[in-house]
Amino acid sequence: MTDSRMESISSRLNAVVASLPPQVALVAVSKFHPAEAIREAYDAGQRIFGESRAQELAAKAPLLPADIRWHFIGHLQTNKVAVVVPLVDLIHSVDSLRLLRAIDREAARHGKRQDILLQLHVAEEETKFGFAVDEIADAVSEASSLENVSLRGLMAMATNTDDTARIRADFLTAKAAFDSVKGGLSADSRSQFDILSMGMSHDRDIAAECGSTMVRVGTDIFGIRN
Ligand SMILES: *Cc1c(COP(=O)(O)O)cnc(C)c1O
Repeated sequence: MTDSRMESISSRLNAVVASLPPQVALVAVSKFHPAEAIREAYDAGQRIFGESRAQELAAKAPLLPADIRWHFIGHLQTNKVAVVVPLVDLIHSVDSLRLLRAIDREAARHGKRQDILLQLHVAEEETKFGFAVDEIADAVSEASSLENVSLRGLMAMATNTDDTARIRADFLTAKAAFDSVKGGLSADSRSQFDILSMGMSHDRDIAAECGSTMVRVGTDIFGIRN
């Protein structure tokens, strides 16, 4: 086995890209890694990067090429929405109606329609953020009623475990919810609802098998975070 810490970011990125089915997009999760590391992945062709903290994103984005598409993937406090909305293409982690409305108001201020995903809670852990499966329909109808957000899909995280059957069950629950929401949308909204963000370094293969269209991979590209 090769030691991944010895390999370059570009070679690890290329290996991840090569391992993904063609319908699955890659978010390179660069949280806690410096701008130089992001630049190396950028130079190897990666354009979508994920960050989970507003201040860190605001500090790094100006140092890097303007054609990077930043995605926000972490828990977002409403008082940080004004920092994040001007910078990002997609917010994966919309986990409350209050946050949803705050994003809508901030997007209006920027004359922007903000692409968002609703975060679905499917994992066993009590502490994970997100809407329960039986709350998602209300969140979808709220999102559909707002003029300055565009509901692009759902995001989910599986239970943090080595039990692959458990992980698979969580992802299949998310896929079923995705299909059910999509089926209930108007024809216009349905054509925009095309992102199911699930899968991280350790469970991305299972996620892809279960219908993921977007994986969020940090460690397998940038190495262990400090
Ligand atoms: C950090 C993070 C990831 C990436 O995790 P890795 O295990 O490093 O691939 C993916 N999604 C979210 C929401 C994260 O916070």
